[in-house]
Amino acid sequence: MTDFKALKDLFHLPEGLVYLDGNSLGPLPRAALSRMQTTMRDEWGEMLITGWNRAGWMDQPARLGDRIGRLIGAEPGHVVLGDTLSIKVYQALAAALALRPDRKVILSDTGNFPTDLYMAEGLIKALDQGHELRVVPPNEVEANITNEVAATLLTEVDYRTGRLHNMAQLTEKAHENGSLAVWDLAHSAGAIPVDLAACKADFAIGCTYKFLNGGPGAPAFIYIAPEHADRVQPALSGWLGHAAPFAFDPHYQPGPGIERMRVGTPPVLAMAALDTALDIWENIDMAAFRAQSIALSQLFIDRIEATCPDLTLASPRDPLRRGSQVSFHFQHGYAAMQACIAEGVIGDFRAPDIMRFGITPLYVDRQDIERAAETVTKVMHRKLWENPEFHTVNRVT
Ligand SMILES: *Cc1c(COP(=O)(O)O)cnc(C)c1O
Repeated sequence: MTDFKALKDLFHLPEGLVYLDGNSLGPLPRAALSRMQTTMRDEWGEMLITGWNRAGWMDQPARLGDRIGRLIGAEPGHVVLGDTLSIKVYQALAAALALRPDRKVILSDTGNFPTDLYMAEGLIKALDQGHELRVVPPNEVEANITNEVAATLLTEVDYRTGRLHNMAQLTEKAHENGSLAVWDLAHSAGAIPVDLAACKADFAIGCTYKFLNGGPGAPAFIYIAPEHADRVQPALSGWLGHAAPFAFDPHYQPGPGIERMRVGTPPVLAMAALDTALDIWENIDMAAFRAQSIALSQLFIDRIEATCPDLTLASPRDPLRRGSQVSFHFQHGYAAMQACIAEGVIGDFRAPDIMRFGITPLYVDRQDIERAAETVTKVMHRKLWENPEFHTVNRVT
């Protein structure tokens, strides 16, 4: 059985704060502090350059990749870490397009995170082969998977509303039409059960600083299904994805399987923090975890809907069609969220009018949900969002 109270104690959370923004940046796992000190002092400090071998720094991207792989149902040896998610989107999509050279359509949806769409646009320009990015509403994706589509580029959980795509069903439809499926798991990994192998996903990518708590700027991950792993030609042919980086061959030869998706020097310190954050998952039963996430989300929705008629649910009401977050529309959402933050409840705002609350049983409990609901209610009833100080828009919302 998963002991949620013990899980919460593994995190450093500022006194008196309710944190419902782990879908943007997960909090600090307490053990990461001492791990960072050890890695910096005993590895970087004492081993210097020999740390690449002696401390296993060079193996981290694949070793941690496998740890994440277990959370997303990947076959061992098919996930690697590095770079940022934007870069991994580019790599996965480029690899998929190269496997379908006779097709020119990339299918995505309007709920996708902008950087995924921007990277696709940039890739289309760089390739200059007449590809088209077709962006349809999320509920029209399935009907638009035709035999023109080279690859679907979909984020399983919508960052704004939490709407969950049916990964198995859409992947099957893609394959029936000869298309490849690229899945972005930014809001899935560490949030909901994922089974890439069972869904037969072709490519997957995701970040580790959200629900996986790897820390700001922690490296991203990429998965390639076994049947494609030795066939894809990397678009970003960096030396650490080479078959023999230390042969210093002037010509690129891809490394074995997923190793070829590595690009350059891995962020060793960030990986150390992430490694510690991944320890937390060793004893978690994902089914119990998901059930608790749903129970907390339902409690929050019930409370808000009972007391805040001006907020309308932006997330699907059916928990099976929702990730691990709850969002509400409110015209003055930005200012209202600033007021909540001033009252010690941190969520965030996504344009144009969405107040977003990440709910994870890792460190959010019933009391936190009760307090968050009371705070939102106070902000709404007292119209605290009218305070001009809450209307100055920060660089990061
Ligand atoms: C958070 C998020 C990103 C962020 O990309 P970075 O390169 O890590 O900044 C990309 N895509 C999706 C779907 C996200 O949710």
